[in-house]
Amino acid sequence: MTDTDGDRQVTRQSADEVRQLTYEDRDPGPHPTTGLLVDSYGRRIKNLRISVTDKCNFRCVYCMPAEGLPWLPRADILTFEEIARLSRVAVELGIEQIRLTGGEPLVRRDLPTLVAMLSEIPGLRSLSLTTNGILLTRQARALAEAGLTRINVSLDSLDRERFAQLTRRDALAQVLAGLDAIAAYPQVRPVKINAVAMRGFTEPEVLDFARLARRTGYSVRWIEFMPLDADQIWRKEDILTGAEIKAIIEEEFGPLVPIKGSDPSETARRYTFSDGVGEVGFINPVSEPFCSQCDRIRLTADGQLRTCLFAHNETDLRAVLRSHADDEQLALAIRAAVWHKELKHHIGDTRFRRTARSMSMIGG
Ligand code: SAM
Ligand code: SF4
Repeated sequence: MTDTDGDRQVTRQSADEVRQLTYEDRDPGPHPTTGLLVDSYGRRIKNLRISVTDKCNFRCVYCMPAEGLPWLPRADILTFEEIARLSRVAVELGIEQIRLTGGEPLVRRDLPTLVAMLSEIPGLRSLSLTTNGILLTRQARALAEAGLTRINVSLDSLDRERFAQLTRRDALAQVLAGLDAIAAYPQVRPVKINAVAMRGFTEPEVLDFARLARRTGYSVRWIEFMPLDADQIWRKEDILTGAEIKAIIEEEFGPLVPIKGSDPSETARRYTFSDGVGEVGFINPVSEPFCSQCDRIRLTADGQLRTCLFAHNETDLRAVLRSHADDEQLALAIRAAVWHKELKHHIGDTRFRRTARSMSMIGG
C-alpha cells in the first residue's frame, strides 16, 4: 500500500501484509561455530534426508510429468564417498537419523554399498530408505545385510488399475512382492507404507489400507498432497486431510487410540485400533503444519543442502566437498545453512511461492 507523508512517498504495509510477516524477515545473527546443529529459532536438527538420484522409474501424477524431467548430469551427482564424508560430519554435528530417498533411490547402482558405508558411522541411530518398492525384491537381502534399519514403501492403491493410473506404471504386483521381501528381515523395522492423500482418489481404499495395516503389521500413513508436483496440478481443494481419513476409518472401526510416547518431532500422528492390532498414521503438513517441531534438513542428489522442503535458497555443499575444504570448513557450511532454516512453509497463505524444484528433484 503506498501513501504520502508530506512530500515523501512511503510504503505502508496493510494489516494483512503485517500478519504475514514472519521472523524469517529478521536478521538471525551470527551462527554458532561450535555445538550441535541448531537453527536460529532453537530447533535442534537431527534428521537428514539424502537424495541419491533425481531419476525415477515411476511417473506418479502428484510428483513427475509423464515424460519425466531433464535428469541431472552424472558429474553433478555426489559420489558415495562424498555422501559418506558429508554424513559423517553431519552425524558429528548431531544428526541421528539418515533417510535415503530420491527420485527412486533403488535405481542408483549399488545402493547397498552406500548403505554399508553409512551404517558404519559411529553415532548414527537410524538408517532408512524411502522407495517406490519396484526394485525391492531384488535388493532386499543386500540392503538388510548392509545395515538398513527402517523402510518406507510408497503405495497409493491396492488395485492394479488404480495403481497404474496414479504411478503410470503397471507394477503393483512387484511392489507388493518387494514389501514381502523386505519384511522377511526383522532387522528392518518398522516397515511403513506411505500413501499420498488426494481428494477424489484416496477415499475408496482407505478401509482396505486400514485392513492391510491390521493384517500385516505394516504402519500405513497417509500424507497430505503438497504443492511439489512438477505438473503443478495441485489445488487446495485436492487435499484430503488426515482428519477426514481418520473419520472414515473410525466410522468402520470405532475410535482410534493415539499412540503415546512418540518423538515430538515425528511427522506422523500415530494411532492404533481399539483392540491394539495395527497402526495407522497421518502426516498433515498442510492442515496441521509441524514446522515448529521440524528437525529435518535435506541434501539433493547434486549436493545442495535445503533446510525446508519449500526453501527458495540452497547451500552448495558439493562445491565445498569438491574444494580443498577440510571437515571443519564443511561443518561450518552446514552450521551456517542450518542456522538460517526457514521458520515455516507458507502453503495456504498469500506469501506462498512454489519452489523451483519439485519433489523428485528434492528428495521427499
Ligand atoms: N521414489 C521414492 C518413493 O516414491 O517412495 C522416494 C522419493 S518420493 C519423492 C518420496 C515421497 O514423497 C513418497 O512417499 C511420495 O509419495 C511423496 N510425494 C511425492 N510427491 C508428493 C506431493 N506432491 N505431496 C506429498 N507427497 C509427495
Ligand atoms: Fe518417482 Fe517417488 Fe516421485 Fe513417484 S513419488 S514419481 S516413485 S520419485
